[in-house]
Amino acid sequence: MPDHDLVILGAGPFGLAAAAHLRAVKGLDVCVFGDPMISWIRHMPAGMFLRSNLVASEIASPTGALTLQAFDPENADKLPNHLPIKQFIQYGLWYQTQAVPDIDRRKIQSVEPGTSGFRIVLDSGESITSRRFIVAGGLGPFAFRPPEYANLPPELATHTSDHSTFKPFSGKQVVIVGCGQSGLESAALLHENGAQVEVIGRENHIHWLFGWGSRTLHQGLGKTVRNFFYAPTDVGPAGISQLLARPDLLRQLPRSIQDRLLKRATRTAGARWLVDRLTNVPITLGRTVSTVGTVGGKVRLRLNDGSERTADHLLLATGYHIDIAKYTFLAPQLLASIKRQNGFPVLQPGLESSVPGLHFLGAPAIWSFGPILLFISGTGYASRSLVRRISAGR
Ligand SMILES: Cc1cc2nc3c(=O)[nH]c(=O)nc-3n(C[C@H](O)[C@H](O)[C@H](O)COP(=O)(O)OP(=O)(O)OC[C@H]3O[C@@H](n4cnc5c(N)ncnc54)[C@H](O)[C@@H]3O)c2cc1C
Repeated sequence: MPDHDLVILGAGPFGLAAAAHLRAVKGLDVCVFGDPMISWIRHMPAGMFLRSNLVASEIASPTGALTLQAFDPENADKLPNHLPIKQFIQYGLWYQTQAVPDIDRRKIQSVEPGTSGFRIVLDSGESITSRRFIVAGGLGPFAFRPPEYANLPPELATHTSDHSTFKPFSGKQVVIVGCGQSGLESAALLHENGAQVEVIGRENHIHWLFGWGSRTLHQGLGKTVRNFFYAPTDVGPAGISQLLARPDLLRQLPRSIQDRLLKRATRTAGARWLVDRLTNVPITLGRTVSTVGTVGGKVRLRLNDGSERTADHLLLATGYHIDIAKYTFLAPQLLASIKRQNGFPVLQPGLESSVPGLHFLGAPAIWSFGPILLFISGTGYASRSLVRRISAGR
């Protein structure tokens, strides 16, 4: 008999929402491991705003009670459409104390197939067993550092996910490679923290996003028309947003169309509310870095137009490449038996992998269930789908 019915790895939005929903199912013993909201606390910069709108920034809860309004009832009618990260972290930690107060903060070192489920080894050396194992491990290990920068020391080059503040860059020259949301928002924050910044992007132009809750859109379209074209999940362009909000329907489409929609919904883009904050930040588009080196304790880049840049620091806003092989806690024999496509697990209803009882939530699930699984607004679908599968299989 395993020690637990279910073990969840992860206490970010997906792990917390899944735990809250599964604990509402009578008789299930659910154990949760992780550091609550740690990706938001350690790997995103202070001063950041959520790109998702208010409705889409709510972590799903089984009765719908754990809302942003319930978290801060006194200010419920003053909540901004895009939350500051500090407020979202406080909300996430409040959600955790309400729904999953007994999180085990030990790290899971490895998970491997067991006699009736999984054997889980903790960093304390202890091991436990569970009938099912749910991975909600987030994006952290997938941070993409292009190989051409591998030889630069961390004092000279870092990934955006390495920073929780840009204060130390005050007075420094920083070049950012990448002009998606992360690169553009980092540029605004660095500029506001007193750094001299330039953004270099390979794209020829920046896609600025309106989004479901934007004021321009709100004024331009009536609420009914807007709600017709945009789902509350706030992912994807008009019309397509409604389809992406329904992963079970999306999955019925031919693979080539699913791939195109996934690419479209996750393309490099910036929130329109960044435009004013970037007025005084040079953005060089349509350029790539040809060579990189160091000179006098600085980093030197040569671009494909022959121009050069020398800076105190290079910030890689080069995004994330999802590949579950980078989840080092998956023991080799378990990893080998997971059916995968380009690094993504191929998932069935209930977000269950080809290994019965092993589920993946969040970013790794986007190949099978579409881009909402990358965002907080996907926590509702993921948790309900998980509950349906687990309730049916008991
Ligand atoms: C810069 C940036 C901005 C973003 N902005 C938005 C936004 O505005 N709106 C939006 O919807 N989404 C946004 N996202 C996407 C965001 O990452 C996801 O919405 C959300 O955080 C994913 O939650 P998660 O639960 O999957 O993972 P995470 O929040 O990353 O949580 C991972 C959890 O796994 C735990 N863990 C990992 N390994 C182990 C282990 N070995 N043992 C035990 N525990 C472990 C960690 O402790 C942590 O608790 C943004 C992402 C980035 C990078």
